[in-house]
Amino acid sequence: MRPIDLHCHSTVSDGMLPPAEVVARAAGNGCRWLALTDHDDLDGLDVAARTAAEHGVGFLPGVEISVSWRDLTVHMVGLNIDPACGALQQGLEQVRSGRAERAEQMADGLARAGIGGALQGAYRYASNPALISRAHFARYIVEQGHARDTGAVFKRFLVQGKPGYVRHEWASLGDAVEWIHAAGGLAVIAHPGRYRVNASGLQDLIGEFRGLGGDGIEVITSSHSSEDYQRFNGIARDAGLLASVGSDFHAPEESWMDVGGVPDLPLLATPVWEALGLDLPAPDMLASGVLASNGTAMAGPA
Ligand code: AMP
Ligand code: MN
Ligand code: MN
Ligand code: MN
Repeated sequence: MRPIDLHCHSTVSDGMLPPAEVVARAAGNGCRWLALTDHDDLDGLDVAARTAAEHGVGFLPGVEISVSWRDLTVHMVGLNIDPACGALQQGLEQVRSGRAERAEQMADGLARAGIGGALQGAYRYASNPALISRAHFARYIVEQGHARDTGAVFKRFLVQGKPGYVRHEWASLGDAVEWIHAAGGLAVIAHPGRYRVNASGLQDLIGEFRGLGGDGIEVITSSHSSEDYQRFNGIARDAGLLASVGSDFHAPEESWMDVGGVPDLPLLATPVWEALGLDLPAPDMLASGVLASNGTAMAGPA
């Protein structure tokens, strides 16, 4: 495993573990640098930073901003942001504000498809009601026995063209980059392999993002296939973008990659942690047992 994970979620958005548990779990998996990147909300960062310090894990405050680009929803991770930045806080508040009404419309659509009680049901799963999301609806729909798992729920009910899907206008690409930069962070396109877009559309997205001053793209992440790893390694290198890695962990039962469990696959572009000047131990030092796997044999990173 690579001892760094720059994308994961807690109960502050649609993850299932509280921030402190996410950090402790990452530490237990040998993670030495962690970014918590909840959707559109910064509330978990204080607790996560304190917990990381207790575990000797280096912590990067992060966020994953919901963006509308053309007819797609794109996610942008902000890394090493200052959570006290007013421009970022106000921007995120604005992004969050439409979620309640969207949830009501989603519940109406689901009711017409024969799934009742979805609004209250989804809110039961939302520890932070301001961040009510499709993931909370998906958990309720599984609970009610309408589908086997959340992946199946999305396919049948929650994606474009399905009864629980409601089109929503999130932040613009430019606003998201601007807020992240205002907060002193690096802007990274999350899981680029997931967007339903052809090669030229993807080129447009990345071109526009670069033009706006965007910094990097995720290469190694749980929703990417090994072909995606290769493809986005090439795209990052050719576009002069930094390469980022992250599990996108949400919950033990829902994730293909555990938090702190990002595989140590090759990166062709400059890794984002080099640009941030993080002091990461070389993989061979970990392998030779010079460091304890959770890094506690050494002073934790600053
Ligand atoms: P929202 O921000 O309300 O549109 O919800 C988006 C969240 O739903 C993502 O961050 C994922 O956690 C989850 N999600 C999206 N697509 C899928 C999928 N196909 N399977 C499982 N979870 C998904
Ligand atoms: Mn999510
Ligand atoms: Mn995402
Ligand atoms: Mn995510």
